[in-house]
Amino acid sequence: MSSTTRSKSHVSVLTSAINPLANPRGAKKLCELCQNLAYLQCTKCRVTFYCDTEHQQADWVGIHEKICQLLIPIRTAMPFHSLQADRDHHRAQILHRQEELIEISRAVAQKKLFEGKYQESLPAAQLSLRCAMDVYGPSAVQLVPAYLLLAEANVGLGSLSQAEGYLSQAEWTVMKTPECSQTVRHQLHRNLGRLYTATENLEGALLHFANDVYYASEEYGLDNIVTCGGYFLMANVFIKQEKMDIASSLYTEVASTWHSHLTKLLETHTPGSMTLEHSFDEAQQAEADQMLRAMLKVQESSPKQATAQNTLVAHSLAMLWFLGGSPDKALEFGRKALQSSQLVPDHSLTEPIQGLLQLAAERGPHLTIAS
Ligand SMILES: [Zn+2]
Ligand SMILES: [Zn+2]
Repeated sequence: MSSTTRSKSHVSVLTSAINPLANPRGAKKLCELCQNLAYLQCTKCRVTFYCDTEHQQADWVGIHEKICQLLIPIRTAMPFHSLQADRDHHRAQILHRQEELIEISRAVAQKKLFEGKYQESLPAAQLSLRCAMDVYGPSAVQLVPAYLLLAEANVGLGSLSQAEGYLSQAEWTVMKTPECSQTVRHQLHRNLGRLYTATENLEGALLHFANDVYYASEEYGLDNIVTCGGYFLMANVFIKQEKMDIASSLYTEVASTWHSHLTKLLETHTPGSMTLEHSFDEAQQAEADQMLRAMLKVQESSPKQATAQNTLVAHSLAMLWFLGGSPDKALEFGRKALQSSQLVPDHSLTEPIQGLLQLAAERGPHLTIAS
């Protein structure tokens, strides 16, 4: 270990100027985000470099905060092992860490996308792609999930030609891989559908979403929360086409799928545990929140109020937030659900809603965990 006692000019708490003597070989360090020449170094891991503080900050918020320490063993040169067995063991360990890194960065990017934070999702998605390239090579099917994340972020940011580039890479790779999983195919079509929606090619978008739903249902079944994400996106296209009746019936599918999924989760929910970490990941929670809220907004603004559907959606949101550890939000949506449940002839939901309101009131807002 070389100890560098030289004074460093601290630009911020997290970065220091690169000490040229620390890299005697003169290997040029490149910025983690833009691949330009780097002048700063992360002081916590010392293996990550940046061109300026802005890129350092963006990377920190986007992904680096979560993986800083994980990068140290991956990016540090392999120690000298005389035995082949030791070298093999070391390589296997690094590979395991790299796979872990791909998973973490993918999950972080996905969560940010569900929350609509497109710009912030880019560092994680880019890292996931670069790391997958290192592990699997430049044309492997394992790269497709990262291409799709980057495409989705770029559609969200309105950078459609960038998105198109990533999607044609993904399409090409899937085409060359006949054994490619249904999950990857469903995700590819979902993203092509998003791109076509953004370019106002609505018929093309509907075709891709139909394929998306087909592949997703092969993998997960028809009344599954993953599959119904495709129905939701389709419904949004029908709204653009002013076909409100079709959109509304698709929304009903989405609402009842989520409603029964959350009802089951709530039944198995043990009073002692505060969150649903194990049954439900944060990214899914963000997706559900975003979809259900969007549906509630459309329904509430439509001239013929679909109150049965409003009840279902508001009740789902209440369960989602109760399970997510936010009883105050659960109360807010629960009251909304109760109100609309009293306006419909079918009162079957009134009782479960009242039960949930009671549970949420017992937990009280003072126990709020999530925002
Ligand atoms: Zn940079
Ligand atoms: Zn670091």
